[in-house]
Amino acid sequence: MLPTHDVDCPYCGKFLYTALSLENVVDADAPTSPRLETDERGNFVRCAHCQERVPMKPVVTIGGRRGFRLAEEIIRPR
Ligand SMILES: [Zn+2]
Repeated sequence: MLPTHDVDCPYCGKFLYTALSLENVVDADAPTSPRLETDERGNFVRCAHCQERVPMKPVVTIGGRRGFRLAEEIIRPR
């Protein structure tokens, strides 16, 4: 069993998704993952609470599975 923790929406602070690891990675193919959407600006998830577009960055997890984590531009202080 992998360690998991909850990641909060960077806009409203409410629950966004359950991550697999300390790096906030979510497994794109896991049934419990949030629905990842794509538009001309890239990948994102839509927050269920505030409806904000939360940018996500694709990563390859250990074992070669598809994963995503929060894009860095929104976790840096402004
Ligand atoms: Zn939100």
